[in-house]
Amino acid sequence: MVKKDHRSDITIVGAGMVGSAAALSLARAGFNITLIEANEIPQWSAEEYYLRVSAISLASEQLLEDIGVWQQIKNRRVSSYEHMRVWDASGTGRLEFDAAESGVAYLGHIVENNLINDSLIEQLQGMSNVRFVIGVRLSSMTWLEEAVQLRLENGDEIRSTLVIAADGDNSSVRQLCGIESSRHDYLQTGIVARVRTSLSHNSTAWQRFLPSGPLAFLPLADGSCSIVWSADQQRASDLLSLNDEDFSKQLADAFENQLGSVELLSPRVAFPLMLANANSYSAERVVLLGDAAHRVHPLAGQGVNLGFQDVIDLTSILREASQHQRGLADPLYLRRFARRRRADASLMLAGMDGIQRVFASKQQFVCKSRNLAMDLINQLPVLKQFFVNRALGN
Ligand SMILES: Cc1cc2nc3c(=O)[nH]c(=O)nc-3n(C[C@H](O)[C@H](O)[C@H](O)COP(=O)(O)OP(=O)(O)OC[C@H]3O[C@@H](n4cnc5c(N)ncnc54)[C@H](O)[C@@H]3O)c2cc1C
Repeated sequence: MVKKDHRSDITIVGAGMVGSAAALSLARAGFNITLIEANEIPQWSAEEYYLRVSAISLASEQLLEDIGVWQQIKNRRVSSYEHMRVWDASGTGRLEFDAAESGVAYLGHIVENNLINDSLIEQLQGMSNVRFVIGVRLSSMTWLEEAVQLRLENGDEIRSTLVIAADGDNSSVRQLCGIESSRHDYLQTGIVARVRTSLSHNSTAWQRFLPSGPLAFLPLADGSCSIVWSADQQRASDLLSLNDEDFSKQLADAFENQLGSVELLSPRVAFPLMLANANSYSAERVVLLGDAAHRVHPLAGQGVNLGFQDVIDLTSILREASQHQRGLADPLYLRRFARRRRADASLMLAGMDGIQRVFASKQQFVCKSRNLAMDLINQLPVLKQFFVNRALGN
């Protein structure tokens, strides 16, 4: 437990994947860190698959390698994918990406979210410059001359030179700073579940664009798949109310039986799908990372990858600030970070939103054009490489 008036160089609010990665990256760079998390950290178990998984790009893998957790994650349980297949239910458009064509061994890995979290926390626990405050919520912030005073729900207080908001889409820090967020509700739900298919997933990340939203099958290490089925709210609620057998049949059908018959192995969990972009990623003595700054449609699996890129850029900018004897919360450096990351994330958000809208359109000429565009990309190596590079995080 912290004592009243505890002091810290950097306080990170939120120990999700992004907050924990930021803590480890900045602790390795020599800063004193306090990590505040409202909930217990979900533990990874070798016996049971965690339902939430992420497609981790090569750039994110490199970050995890650099901060010393990738080997452990890899040794425990990951699934590499070497191919991506994307096709349109309302036409003949098809995109096929292969690692070998791009001169890499794989395009990315599918990893359980709690495995990433657990491995980061394990490393952090061994570090003398990291202090944990778990199971307590931040309640208010007061700006002082040389620091920000954070007040927790249990009454404890922390004085911090810099505060990092990694507290997710509903970020309290963002709200306490008065930063608005531009939001668009897709009025869609993403249904997540684990399934076994009668045919091999062939180390491929599959995605079919249906008129009601994209359906993805992501390959897992034991041969099963994690699915994300995005659908309009009514359709999703109908799907959630089906019994397991009927749901599995509809799922196989919606996927054109590409992987044969489907057997449901887990409960189905639903997530509301939203686009959000904070109007600024920094304020006085504060920066925003991960979903606290930006939230993207999961169709291209980019959310946490964008968050990890925030971590890479923030670590590099804070290192630079300290090399130039500038304070940790120097507004010039914080604003530079915020501008750079917002430009990058906005591009990704606009791209994903554009793809979502183009595939949601039922207008004939839009359907024809997107199918033509897919075929064009598929046949032009330069264009194809551009999309592969984005997926790899280059
Ligand atoms: C269906 C689905 C599939 C996805 N698939 C992918 C994928 O394949 N690849 C990918 O890159 N991304 C994917 N994403 C996105 C990815 O899951 C998110 O971008 C990522 O989890 C965000 O991490 P975060 O650490 O920023 O936020 P969060 O995971 O939301 O963590 C925030 C943390 O802050 C804590 N917190 C909140 N408020 C407070 C407070 N006041 N005080 C203290 N603590 C607080 C919370 O308890 C939480 O632990 C997917 C998302 C969905 C919905």
